[in-house]
Amino acid sequence: MARLVMKFGGTSVADLERIANVAAHVKREVEHGHEVAVVVSAMAGTTNQLVEWTREADRLHDAREYDTVVATGEQVTVGLLSITLQKMGVHARSWLGWQIPIRTDGAHGAARIADIDGTQLMERLGQGQVAVIAGFQGLGPDNRITTLGRGGSDTSAVAIAAAIKADRCDIYTDVDGVYTTDPRIVAKARKLDRISYEEMLEMASLGAKVLQTRSVELAMVHRVRLQVRSSFDAPDAPQFAREDFVPGTLVCDEEEIVEQQVVSGIAYSKDEAKITLVKVEDKPGIAASIFGPLADASINVDMIIQNVSDDGRSTDMTFTVPQAELPRAEEVINKVISGIRCEQVRTDPGVVKVSVIGIGMRSHAGVAQAMFRTLSEKGINIQAITTSEIKISVLIDAEYTELAVRALHSAYGLDSE
Ligand code: ASP
Ligand code: MG
Repeated sequence: MARLVMKFGGTSVADLERIANVAAHVKREVEHGHEVAVVVSAMAGTTNQLVEWTREADRLHDAREYDTVVATGEQVTVGLLSITLQKMGVHARSWLGWQIPIRTDGAHGAARIADIDGTQLMERLGQGQVAVIAGFQGLGPDNRITTLGRGGSDTSAVAIAAAIKADRCDIYTDVDGVYTTDPRIVAKARKLDRISYEEMLEMASLGAKVLQTRSVELAMVHRVRLQVRSSFDAPDAPQFAREDFVPGTLVCDEEEIVEQQVVSGIAYSKDEAKITLVKVEDKPGIAASIFGPLADASINVDMIIQNVSDDGRSTDMTFTVPQAELPRAEEVINKVISGIRCEQVRTDPGVVKVSVIGIGMRSHAGVAQAMFRTLSEKGINIQAITTSEIKISVLIDAEYTELAVRALHSAYGLDSE
């Protein structure tokens, strides 16, 4: 017998028929003798609609009331799933964030989980009751409802798994696992059987949409074994009968991965915009005077490059920000450069960041070189480069996204046969 957390996203609970399908998945695990806590999102599209309404009501709305509104989507699905389970003869009840409680900080709209008291839940699980828990929501220090940021129910699920010391956290979604790259643009993308926490973290933060980045971070810290699997597989499909078999992708410790590839995946993010300050003054304090105000405005700067100056007096400085932040960033920069010497500010939203990720890079040379060679063979110009121990990212013209990702996928031997 094991203790499981099963998480189902919006597309998996999009209507009553899908909810019945989810209930059948839950019932299967209960019948295998497991203790089960289920975490669900709102029905697909619901949260978008709720967000939209808060904006229409007032663009500058109170963040606490935003949370009051957008947290409701999950209240509907926990209730409906509990009703459906009960109808199928499964002992179940719904739990809202405040009832557990899931304590968070006070950052409304993007709250972080501070503490979950798992005592009540574990008691009920022990009595054979399935806990159906609302994802995405918690209770702030002021006793008001908070939400964890879009896609936050992945994080709820992992946090619950850690709090109740679950043996595994299964993330059921609309794809059947984690792929070497986006299968929509590379037909030869392969499903990975296993991927390490570190690699998954890079994949998620560099653009792969399977899991919310924060949920992977949390899983890594608490060593929660995560499994990504498809909710569209029939609940009685033969693969589910085998307890030792992972039908999706297991996100786990790197020690558990026997055949480690040098490169495990290619991610891309179109959510990038480039800003170049042409011929900006070259003297101590300039970078601080540019990036300080950007940080104060909570604008996340990613890649930064500064050229050597050819006259010793000025230089070009290029950096990237999330695309949606470009207008705000421009505003901040225009204020800053009124106080310093700078010839021109150029912006370009038509860029994409392509990243190659793999733990094997730690011990293999030549990975970056292979990336640069592959891109040059395709005539793709690299505008900026950043690296970490296990990833290399380049900024290129968005027009070449597909070409670059496909070429790199082949070059690193990731294509399926
Ligand atoms: N319903 C929330 C959202 O759409 C949380 C989630 O689905 O994970 O962002
Ligand atoms: Mg999601």
